[in-house]
Amino acid sequence: APRSLSGMQPTSDSLHLGNYIGALVEWVRLQETHDAFYFVADLHALTVATEPELLRRRTRLTAAQFIAGGVDPERSVLFVQSHISQHTELNWILSCLTGFGEASRMTQFKDKSAKGSNTNVGLFTYPVLQAADILVYDADVVPVGEDQRQHLELSRDLAGRFNQRFGDTLVVPDPHIMKATAKIQDLQDPTAKMSKSAASDAGLVSLLDEPNRIAKKIRSAVTDTEREIRFDEDAKPGISNLLSIHAALSGTPIAHLEAQYEGRGYGDLKKDVAEIVVEKVTPFRERTLELMADEAELDRILADGADRAREVAEATVRRVYDKVGLLRRP
Ligand code: ATP
Ligand code: MG
Repeated sequence: APRSLSGMQPTSDSLHLGNYIGALVEWVRLQETHDAFYFVADLHALTVATEPELLRRRTRLTAAQFIAGGVDPERSVLFVQSHISQHTELNWILSCLTGFGEASRMTQFKDKSAKGSNTNVGLFTYPVLQAADILVYDADVVPVGEDQRQHLELSRDLAGRFNQRFGDTLVVPDPHIMKATAKIQDLQDPTAKMSKSAASDAGLVSLLDEPNRIAKKIRSAVTDTEREIRFDEDAKPGISNLLSIHAALSGTPIAHLEAQYEGRGYGDLKKDVAEIVVEKVTPFRERTLELMADEAELDRILADGADRAREVAEATVRRVYDKVGLLRRP
């Protein structure tokens, strides 16, 4: 079967609705048809200064939420990035193939460094490590949200460049970005993407929040002064975002929703979206807490995943080291 691979950073306790709709739902679907590899990107999370115990807790919490969301650790290889040293080994090789100007064009770095006070070299080279994450497993498809499109382009470029210079070695991955719903926006600032590391959490729907709190946030989402419920991301980003969330979770096409809400008020739409979201997150939250209650079992699952992941990653790095002219490890 073709291989699917993706990861999320443990940069907060809870995943948010964007992570769920933009990525996790698709991860789960791909398990049916693909050889799936999913990981907690703890090395990437180090680009944000975090208290060590908190990072450890969030790494387990993130893994637990993958499982709660439907990732089956028997069918999929579920692991923690730092457990596989080959990610950082391939990262170095790829760094030496990445142009400085090329790395400088990455918009996520520009956005994040413009916002945060902590701009480190790790944040700058983040997309190269991400390329290593993908290429070390010979991934065919990478299910991610729209915000990762540019990083995936870089992964493809680097794989192609390596192959051109050293002969066919790495698989060139395909991005697998969910249409229409691929980007969920912040509820208070619908022109910005919903993000774990956003400055304020007023517009963030955290999956582990109290259901009441979630419903309240959705009911106070920023919209516009018109009254018409129609999808128009430029003129009506708030309403369009609510329609996207509804469509993604209810499975109703946006055009049907527009017809369904004709002549009705924004309050109706918000109330329905809140209900749909709460219905999804309630069992999700329960299952996550259950998994977190047995840390030893969770660690066992992650250790098993690491064993399966390492086998693939080791073979790739061996191939790559040979090709570039490093002496075989004694
Ligand atoms: P951070 O702010 O720390 O970067 P994040 O919210 O962007 O966190 P990541 O761990 O970087 O989350 O991304 C995990 C996955 O979720 C990626 O596939 C990413 O494309 C997807 N994703 C993140 N935010 C959104 C969003 N607002 N809408 C859709 N998908 C998203
Ligand atoms: Mg991100």
